[in-house]
Amino acid sequence: MSNFYQMTLAELSTMLQAGDVSSTELTEHFLSRIKQHDATLNSFITVVKDQAMTQAAAADNALKNGAAGPLTGVPIAHKDIFCTRGVKTSCGSKMLDNFISPYDATVVSKFKQAGVVTLGKTNMDEFAMGSSSETSFYGPVRNPWNIDTVPGGSSGGSAAAVASRLAPAATGTDTGGSIRQPAAMCGITGLKPTYGLVSRYGMIAFASSLDQGGPMAQTAEDCALMLNVMAGFDEKDSTSLEMGIPDYSAGLDHSIEGLRIGLPREYFDAGLDKNVKAVIQGALDQYRELGAELVEIDLPNSGLSVPVYYVVAPAECSANLSRFDGVRYGYRCEDPQDLYDLYTRSRGEGFGAEVKRRIMVGTYALSAGYYDAYYLKAQQLRHLISDDFREAFNNVDVIMGPASPGPAFNLGEKVEDPISMYLSDIYTIAVNLAGLPGMSVPAGFVDGKPVGLQIIGNYFEESRLLNVAHQYQQHTDWHRQIPNNYK
Ligand code: GLN
Repeated sequence: MSNFYQMTLAELSTMLQAGDVSSTELTEHFLSRIKQHDATLNSFITVVKDQAMTQAAAADNALKNGAAGPLTGVPIAHKDIFCTRGVKTSCGSKMLDNFISPYDATVVSKFKQAGVVTLGKTNMDEFAMGSSSETSFYGPVRNPWNIDTVPGGSSGGSAAAVASRLAPAATGTDTGGSIRQPAAMCGITGLKPTYGLVSRYGMIAFASSLDQGGPMAQTAEDCALMLNVMAGFDEKDSTSLEMGIPDYSAGLDHSIEGLRIGLPREYFDAGLDKNVKAVIQGALDQYRELGAELVEIDLPNSGLSVPVYYVVAPAECSANLSRFDGVRYGYRCEDPQDLYDLYTRSRGEGFGAEVKRRIMVGTYALSAGYYDAYYLKAQQLRHLISDDFREAFNNVDVIMGPASPGPAFNLGEKVEDPISMYLSDIYTIAVNLAGLPGMSVPAGFVDGKPVGLQIIGNYFEESRLLNVAHQYQQHTDWHRQIPNNYK
């Protein structure tokens, strides 16, 4: 059996361009890996075999006719939060189990235009609410490094699929850490872009002021190739930014000599697992060897980020999810007695426990008399959190720390304890509140479980983040490790 699955997007692209492999062969290769392994992992909700083969044939034609772009013919997977025309788009929820999207998300149509083949839709926490991919209506995703543990979440299906090489890369979304934390727990590279860089059109909304789509792949180089496709102004998204988009692949080889890395004291405190801390320290030593300078900094309002997020995100989700009422589309209860019964039972039966918890918290926080005390206050504190970063970036180029306070935890371990689940995003959430870009890069292992180094950049500094991550990956091979059962 050929070893295409061991290759990065960049390597597969080179082979396709040289005619050493066809998109049809590659697509068959990955579809057969999915068939072989996904019964255990549950990383896909839907596999679109026929559509994938048709797209692959079209890509092969484009490659033959000289009409191919850099990613033409490579197959990837999309998180099931992105609308895909003619294909079920469930967002991990019973509410949308019967929803066949009539249109493509902008991200999906951009990949189609680039000739990229879609293998299927990946499993996720219901409406992207969760940190373990256990709130999915379709059952939990398992971490390929240790199937008794979670892959992180909410983009856990995408992370597990890429880590086990069932797909060379996938899309994800990150509202409070959902690209970076699962990337860390599965040992892959993930990038959450600056808010507004990637269109949210057709990306089912959770918390609109925080949601952002991004790439999940094996390497920073591959994330750059994907971001080249994903980024850019979209008139269909009112928060999309009108600005020039650089070639994200262009600066990967720049030297990082003299790079100033800020290390927030708050990210290395008692809440951090000591073995994870040692791995992160190892990565920082590597950066020092590459000529970077390490500077201690303070982000004094870090402690506010989880409480602020758990007001803002539920408030926005309660508004966004009000459209699922059993009337227009999505799940409808059997035999409604009257309109009230139709609303309450459709929502009561269609949503899972975590989603209901958030809707109730959010509705409360937005209700008359409480709005000022909760939502408005949270928005004010959000400014303090952004100001901390602004201040820090006056003095450093990037900020580094752990992506997650611990490695992957056991399935079921935190399901009954939402607070401890919420705390697993303690190092990622502030980045969303401030709208900054952040990455997670594989940096080592603790007891055979991957650990991710988080790299945070200033607004629109994706090129720098990718350069900083790529230079590390030129000198380490953590990102090339494949879990034993998937080699
Ligand atoms: N884990 C966080 C939450 O449950 C973040 C999820 C996300 O980024 N989509 O809300």
